[in-house]
Amino acid sequence: MKRIVLGVILALIATAVVLFGVLAFNTITFTSMQVAPAPRALPEINLERAVTSLQEALRQETISYEEPHLWDFEPFARLHEILEQRFPLVHERLEKETVSDYSLLYTWRGAAPEEKALILLAHQDVVAAPDAAIWEHPPFSGAVADGFIWGRGTLDDKGSMIGILEAVETLLENGFVPERTVYLCFGHDEEVGGWNGAAKTAETLRDRGVTAKMSLDEGMAVIDGALLGLDVPIAFISLTEKGYLSLELTARGNPGHASTPPRETTLGILSRAVTRLEENPMPASLPEPVRLMFRYLGPEMPFPANVVFANLWLTKPLVMRQLASARATDAAIRTTTAVTIMEGGIKDNVLPAEARAVVNFRPKPGKTIEQVIGRVRETINDDRIEVRPLRRPVESPPMARTDGPAFAALQETIRQVFSEAIVAPAMMLGGSDTHHYAEVAEDRYGFLPLDFSVEDLERIHGPNERISVEAFGRMIAFYMMFIEHVAG
Ligand SMILES: [Zn+2]
Repeated sequence: MKRIVLGVILALIATAVVLFGVLAFNTITFTSMQVAPAPRALPEINLERAVTSLQEALRQETISYEEPHLWDFEPFARLHEILEQRFPLVHERLEKETVSDYSLLYTWRGAAPEEKALILLAHQDVVAAPDAAIWEHPPFSGAVADGFIWGRGTLDDKGSMIGILEAVETLLENGFVPERTVYLCFGHDEEVGGWNGAAKTAETLRDRGVTAKMSLDEGMAVIDGALLGLDVPIAFISLTEKGYLSLELTARGNPGHASTPPRETTLGILSRAVTRLEENPMPASLPEPVRLMFRYLGPEMPFPANVVFANLWLTKPLVMRQLASARATDAAIRTTTAVTIMEGGIKDNVLPAEARAVVNFRPKPGKTIEQVIGRVRETINDDRIEVRPLRRPVESPPMARTDGPAFAALQETIRQVFSEAIVAPAMMLGGSDTHHYAEVAEDRYGFLPLDFSVEDLERIHGPNERISVEAFGRMIAFYMMFIEHVAG
């Protein structure tokens, strides 16, 4: 008996030693993914001129709406005039076209047109500012105060559009000639899906046989705020975004008087379907962009977090449980289910003939719209419920690569401009114009070269949207260096 106990104890000790060894080995070989490019001085820019251009752009109320009759295209036309005045060389040397009347497509012909192109994306439209009364400076004033430029669109996404144009204007002044062709695509309806702007622009490029090495669009940014226990800013590069699907669920029955009801009413049948969907969330798994994020951030983390991420083979259940415990991180690991509309019935003593609900899903990378619909039908398991997609579903686009020269160029330029920042791949939970370019650009990245604090995220689509003048300057420098790096 004693010998058996001793044997078990020895086996346990041996296992612990081996386990410790494996954990330690994995942690030691979990090397940094950060690059250290040759330091470069930031190029000279005319920041004052750029700020004035941005102010003028911000004063145009280029708001996009879901309802076609609400649109006012005058501000878009005025914005185009302003761009022409503010960026004379861009308009002299690049070919400018409009797509669907208000989206802008600039072609900057490269000296080596056989090289695959570079596409820079931004959008002209903004969301409305119904909360104007609580803004410190009116949302369409373009005010400059306390070192910031204030206004709707500073972060999303006129700052980027003006930043790109200022970068190109300055490069032209410097006599820069790109090798590969550079396209600047500025959509006018990104906030409502980009179906007339980005979708049509991408179609135009595809029909011309354009293939781009990469596209760069808004998406993630350089975020400071002690995220994940790291006291340095993190430059998140979005490699893909989630899909979009709204399903309408309808239950139909015979209308009748409430005095002689059937056992099950349309509302009861519909409620059960909705409850089943909420009680059976889509399964969780670690999407590749999130796994890559841990691969890039893990080695930079202090003990014991680095051990956890170096040993996902062991710690994954723990990490997944942690991710599932908060809404924002739970959305990163599964196709989300959100019941957004439920209606039926108009009178207290009449049985409604029809009841409907709308459920919004955001398919995670790798899950197709068809698979999600199939799973919804299976979960509801009730033929009396009609399931129908609403609006235009969007598939989660293929993931951009991290092992090619495109990502390397992005990573190097980020480290040259934001030298403190750690670079990490990521995935956007919302949507942008980027997915429309899936057939045109080989790799599509979502990265706004802008550093701000985690608290500033609430200003996007919220009150007091603003950009620091200094950060705006770094953004222009980034675009210049990036174009030189990729297209030079
Ligand atoms: Zn945007």
